[in-house]
Amino acid sequence: MLEDLLEFLSQVRHKLGPIRLRRMASFMDKKKIEKAVRDILEAIGEKPKRKDLLETPRRVAEMYEEIFSGIHLDPSKELEVILDQKHNEIILLKNIPLYSVCEHHLVPFMGRAHIAYIPKGGRVTGLSKLARVVDILAKRPQVQERLTTQVAEIIMSKLRPLGCMVVIEAEHLCMSMRGIRKPGTSTVTSAVRGIFKENEKTRAETLALIK
Ligand SMILES: [Zn+2]
Repeated sequence: MLEDLLEFLSQVRHKLGPIRLRRMASFMDKKKIEKAVRDILEAIGEKPKRKDLLETPRRVAEMYEEIFSGIHLDPSKELEVILDQKHNEIILLKNIPLYSVCEHHLVPFMGRAHIAYIPKGGRVTGLSKLARVVDILAKRPQVQERLTTQVAEIIMSKLRPLGCMVVIEAEHLCMSMRGIRKPGTSTVTSAVRGIFKENEKTRAETLALIK
């Protein structure tokens, strides 16, 4: 009986494969988050037992599980390479919605990402795959500059294009809420690689397309 069960479990393990197992292993310690949120509430002078706050630690823990779900995922695995010899011009994906969390203050920053690349050897990828890469990298404690660079590096290493350009514009609540800058101010970062770096015309053309 026990042997049957063990055999069954090992078959399930085999069927699920390494990816599913890794995802299961990334399960977050929600109880620990809940306790931490109660501690913060108490530390700021609130009463965690106040009726309307009772469910807050649980809600925050559930939300964290979602907004930090990219921590254990490998974005480069999402970037499927498709061969399509017809494409040798700029491919631009504009206005990818971006929601991330600033790792210095743990409050959101949000905005848009724009990704351009010029394929080499017909190696392209689905547009939704690029958006998925941005999403995985955004769903973890981040800084905008690193996020921008990481997207560019993954595209360069997986697609090996002639070049790529990643532009991210985002509003950081840690700046807007604290009044250091006016609300609505956005920070723009870019990462430029290959032909986009070498050729000013290509870069200018891409920026014109983004605007
Ligand atoms: Zn911040």
